[in-house]
Amino acid sequence: MTPPAPSPAAPLVDGRGRAVTYLRLSLTARCNFRCTYCSPAPDGAGEGLRREDAARLVRIFAGLGVRRVRLTGGEPTLRPDLAEVAGDAAATPGIEEVALTTNGQRLEELAAPLRAAGVSRLNVSLDTLRPGRLAALAGRAADLPRILRGIGAAAVAGFASLKLNAVVIRGGNEDELGELCRFAWRHGAVPRFIELMPFGPGDPVPIAEVKRLLAAQGVRLEPDATRGWGPAVHMRGRAGPESGLVGFIGAMSESFCEGCNRVRVGADGALRSCLGGRDRLPLVPMLRAGASDAELGEAVRGALREKGERHDMGDASRGPLLPMRETGG
Ligand code: SAM
Ligand code: SF4
Repeated sequence: MTPPAPSPAAPLVDGRGRAVTYLRLSLTARCNFRCTYCSPAPDGAGEGLRREDAARLVRIFAGLGVRRVRLTGGEPTLRPDLAEVAGDAAATPGIEEVALTTNGQRLEELAAPLRAAGVSRLNVSLDTLRPGRLAALAGRAADLPRILRGIGAAAVAGFASLKLNAVVIRGGNEDELGELCRFAWRHGAVPRFIELMPFGPGDPVPIAEVKRLLAAQGVRLEPDATRGWGPAVHMRGRAGPESGLVGFIGAMSESFCEGCNRVRVGADGALRSCLGGRDRLPLVPMLRAGASDAELGEAVRGALREKGERHDMGDASRGPLLPMRETGG
């Protein structure tokens, strides 16, 4: 049963009046893959959030009105205590959903225990169905048959939602979009196509072009009113007898920031008010130095008051972005 929601004195709102109800925790900056577009640097700094830090942060944010937590990374399944961290979050009064994003490499063995621990929504990154391409995109450790078995295990584990995320890269996978849709639908999953953001090298394919490519690859798209918690816009896709939803995340070319409801704590323990920002508030160091829940809550409110209308990821003059593996996507 979902624990009762605490009633926040004043719900968390950013400087533009957007309610913040969704916390993303990057549990580790370590990763077993080396995706070209993610963070070209070696594994990021930060030991990762300790289980007790994660649990306290979730409790504090729930008290401020957060209702959903996503566990991400780096690769969160590298954490031996992932099921415990997820279970702590799921048991926190006020938290309605715990979600996870993974590269799928360890999903075959973890799908059922994570579901049992309280993870209800799962996103798996799947950019290609071709082993040679996956090795070129993610490194030689990435094992496609194993990832596909993991997605099969997730499909039977009973998640309320299963999404397969593909970053669309020119010259990388833009000829496989139709195949990725059909594969996802056969597993009861929603394929989602993400515009490449400038955290690493690569040539992005704008969402408008992704839609044209899908049409050319046999997927007819129709409007659909489905809205999720995040910035994805959905359409209904049909390819012969197969059909299902398709999600689009136009991080660079579309109104990605409109209605943003997210806040992030990175694997370095610092709060980021924006995925594409450069500012960080050292929340976990404050917590370990003895700050009270009320003091931490006020610091979070202060950081969110400074949040801009939209990200400026494309503005290289503002300096490098914070590493994706530390921030968690
Ligand atoms: N390791 C896990 C995974 O790959 O799913 C979780 C962390 S990863 C940083 C979270 C998401 O960010 C993945 O779906 C990944 O494809 C996406 N991502 C990483 N770098 C990106 C970029 N430059 N542009 C767009 N999405 C990116
Ligand atoms: Fe690792 Fe995920 Fe980044 Fe790929 S996208 S390098 S799997 S954190």
